[in-house]
Amino acid sequence: MPASIVIGTQWGDEGKGKATDYLADRMHFVVRYQGGNNAGHTIVAEGQTLKLQLVPSGILYTHITSVIADGVVVDPRVLLEEMDGLAALGIDPTRLVVSGNAHMIMPYHLELEKVTERFLGKNALGTTKRGIGPAYGDKAARIGLRMQDLFDEKIFREKLDIALKEKNLVLTKVYGRLPLTANLIVDDYMRYADRLRPYVGDTSKLIHDGLRAGTNVLLEGAQGTMLDLDHGTYPFVTSSTPVAGYALASAGIGPREIDRVIGITKAYVTRVGAGPFPTEDHGPEGDRLGERGREFGTVTGRKRRCGWFDAVILRYAARLNGLSELFVTKLDVLSGFGTVRVCTAYRADGEIFEDMPPNQSLFHRAEPAYEELEGWDEDLGQVRSFEALPAAARKYLDRLQDLVGVPIGVVSVGPGREQSLSVS
Ligand code: GDP
Repeated sequence: MPASIVIGTQWGDEGKGKATDYLADRMHFVVRYQGGNNAGHTIVAEGQTLKLQLVPSGILYTHITSVIADGVVVDPRVLLEEMDGLAALGIDPTRLVVSGNAHMIMPYHLELEKVTERFLGKNALGTTKRGIGPAYGDKAARIGLRMQDLFDEKIFREKLDIALKEKNLVLTKVYGRLPLTANLIVDDYMRYADRLRPYVGDTSKLIHDGLRAGTNVLLEGAQGTMLDLDHGTYPFVTSSTPVAGYALASAGIGPREIDRVIGITKAYVTRVGAGPFPTEDHGPEGDRLGERGREFGTVTGRKRRCGWFDAVILRYAARLNGLSELFVTKLDVLSGFGTVRVCTAYRADGEIFEDMPPNQSLFHRAEPAYEELEGWDEDLGQVRSFEALPAAARKYLDRLQDLVGVPIGVVSVGPGREQSLSVS
């Protein structure tokens, strides 16, 4: 059976959790392929709310095996906390498999991220300070520790000593912090090792065998295309690679296994943290989008910046990811605006750009060229079929589809499962 990829097309928070939930019935594996504990899914069960940041949302379904693939960075302390949180809610966390090749977030990664963000001052990236960037940095520098190292104490200690020697010099001499003690880290991590041993394995083989046995695999990205380390708005990006191509590299399967690449897009745009955002609305309508859409970060609680649908970045996302279909979320948020705006192109330095400008300076100066469309007042939360949407809302969606050049497969009009309208 083929595999599908779910990918955010904007700056993250597009509603990937909702899309995964919609597709979950047909899936046997849900695989998280990049990022760390910086992507949030909110789960409400037994009257309690749990925020998952690392464990794939597939964990909520008893027929699904949840996989954390090679390209994710794992903080074992957070992983165990999330597993305990799930167990306390009566959700069985034991159908989780973590790749032995996944790199670990170590205590010095958190320390270093805190001090370097402070050091950058007004140029700080606004990271989540979970040690994710530094862990990816060490992976590339070949001084990272991997999940499999937990199960060989001698190797763990050797690798830790090599890394810590340099980290402690930086912490003490550059930033005037206290050094970290290897023995304390070893004690903590060996305790994590005892508990995590049953959950660590060869996930590439597991997924491959699953595909050969005819089961369905969903590869789920975190963050979004515009935050991609290579293709996003560098340096205001995440430290990993959300674009669809990386799903294969991380999961350890080949490109011929994929048949659908589902691009999740909000019906408008949001962005957390610093960086350029051409269609940002600084006025009352931007505030209204934020209020109606409850645009606050799941992990950080930070207020998201809000603006209008940007067809230029969607065309870029369609190109980079090879999107086969769009899953449009939060259309309900756009009710009651009178007119709704869509950015069809940018103007910069006297030129018109229908595609992403070729360099970042132009993107920073890009002014959106808007098309205004008729709005609608109806509350869409109760709508249960695409045909029952108000004519103006359907026209809006038709226009998005034409501008992006990718068909819309599903439209979401609320957080609930029954609020996903399939477009036949
Ligand atoms: P992710 O970071 O892309 O996985 O985004 P989430 O799954 O956290 O979704 C963002 C938030 O939007 C969640 O609180 C969802 O419940 C909510 N949400 C998703 N789709 C819709 C929708 O169509 N309408 C509304 N009003 N909320 C939605």
